[in-house]
Amino acid sequence: MQTAQAADAVPMVNGERLWSRLMQMGAIGATAHGGCNRQALTELDFEGRRLLMQWARPLGCEARVDGIGNLFLHRAGADERLPAVLTGSHLDTQPTGGKFDGVYGVLAGLEVLESLHEQEIRTAHPIELAVWCNEEGSRFPAAMMGSAVWAGRMSIDAAYALKDARGISVREALEQAGVPFERTLAQQPLRAAFEVHIEQGPILEQQHKTIGVVTGVQHMCRNEVLVYGQETHAGTTPMAVRHDPIRVLAQVLPELYRAAERVGTDARMTVGIIETYPGSPNTVPGRLRFTVDLRHPQQQHYRALREALERIVAEALARSQLQGSVRCYWEAPGVSFDERCVEAVRSAADALGYSYMKMISGAGHDSCNVAAIAPTSMIFVPCAGGLSHNEAEQAAATDLAAGANVLLHAMLSLAHTPA
Ligand SMILES: [Zn+2]
Repeated sequence: MQTAQAADAVPMVNGERLWSRLMQMGAIGATAHGGCNRQALTELDFEGRRLLMQWARPLGCEARVDGIGNLFLHRAGADERLPAVLTGSHLDTQPTGGKFDGVYGVLAGLEVLESLHEQEIRTAHPIELAVWCNEEGSRFPAAMMGSAVWAGRMSIDAAYALKDARGISVREALEQAGVPFERTLAQQPLRAAFEVHIEQGPILEQQHKTIGVVTGVQHMCRNEVLVYGQETHAGTTPMAVRHDPIRVLAQVLPELYRAAERVGTDARMTVGIIETYPGSPNTVPGRLRFTVDLRHPQQQHYRALREALERIVAEALARSQLQGSVRCYWEAPGVSFDERCVEAVRSAADALGYSYMKMISGAGHDSCNVAAIAPTSMIFVPCAGGLSHNEAEQAAATDLAAGANVLLHAMLSLAHTPA
């Protein structure tokens, strides 16, 4: 009877241990306002990794660091020829980051490994935990660097050459740390990959849901608009004869907001930088520069937004008889996550009795790169006020445990069954 009960028991993570470890990890690089500054490949980053390895030591996992500083912990499956089921996120933070962004995904993955170990669960497929290097891109300017190199979307030489503000390159930072990393980039075969993360937005909290079943990541691009005018005296030049680039801005902005409204509430349009040259209060500017960040989960609407930007700027330039340009200088195509992995997350949330909703990620994650190689999906949990990349980032221990349990069960559903 007891054996039958034990066999039927639903494996669960230890939520208290997860919380306590989040607080211990958060103490490495702790900031004055309760946040964390543990940037990629710093001494603090390596201290965090050592603490993780110390926790993982009793679990008998094999550890390796690849050529770009990604750390992998491998738990053997019953059949080591089978591809692994992976989870992973990042331990690095923004300079004024929080205790949960990324760190939660790594420590929830450790909870999966530890729970399987404690509960003596042997999976058919191996299980892996990845700590992706330099996800934030704040010290070395390439977000999601480690996963991009691993997935073959960025060359290792381009990544090695990235420098921080003090001129130290990624390669030098890896060597200085004395980490015995492999010079190769073995891309292990994966059956599936999952990442659990705080939402970094307000939707789950507003909708009173515990779990976000993430179906994909939205399309996004950043554009630079330049408009050329003529510098003239602000007092002596009649309005009618000026070549004033700000007239273009005055026409473009209301139309851009209308275009975003037209494609629905999922559209995101942000004018984050507006600069004039020479930037004097009594000179009509000779040049205007502004940026437009556009995002939408659906490709057709995303394309419509990009076309609207081009058309609106072209029309405003023509009306004002000025020269200018629109240039897309960064684009990240959207990702549709694997249907089977999404369903594994949804059914795990359902079976465990957590409230859930399907949603799209507004931010980029390592999983965008992993999805190029392996079937992938993500799990979100609420964070207070949707606040992230902020020292005040907060999440509830019960929600964090729920997300880790969904991760455990989604991974088990693919690690137990034959391919
Ligand atoms: Zn993150």
